[in-house]
Amino acid sequence: MVERTLLLNTSYEPLLILGWQRALTLVVLGKAEVVSEYTRLVRCKTHRIRVPSVIRLRRRVPRVRPMIRFLRSNLYARDGYQCQYCGDTLSAKDLTYDHVIPRSKGGLTCWTNIVSCCVRCNRKKGSLSLEEAGMRLLKRPVRPRVLPDSSVYGPVTPESWRFYLRA
Ligand SMILES: [Zn+2]
Repeated sequence: MVERTLLLNTSYEPLLILGWQRALTLVVLGKAEVVSEYTRLVRCKTHRIRVPSVIRLRRRVPRVRPMIRFLRSNLYARDGYQCQYCGDTLSAKDLTYDHVIPRSKGGLTCWTNIVSCCVRCNRKKGSLSLEEAGMRLLKRPVRPRVLPDSSVYGPVTPESWRFYLRA
């Protein structure tokens, strides 16, 4: 397993997730302090230190948005597992996603152009625009600013992170 490190702001709110090497660099540079560690030791120049699991910034970073990865699971969570065209609520295995502005018309694969939808609506819309298909969205797709739940941190949430993710 590749350890990841949770970075907290000075006020202990979660900011983002780093690879442990980058986290260690912040600690070595004096920009962050270690809050919690994994048991694994790594060699750092002449001595061995534990891989940090949670670190905290020494100086407050203003207005840093939590990193919400653009993943299928996060997309479904943003949309409440609801087809954004017909409103049906489905399980993840029955959902798919749709480019609101089709890729053939220059639509991008990003939070503001992708919505969860059912297979039936996906087929119906095909590569048509909303107007051409005569379909409407339940709501305008946006980049989520709040975390739907801790699943955005990946399938495995280290025990040492839980306390900080509860808020
Ligand atoms: Zn649908």
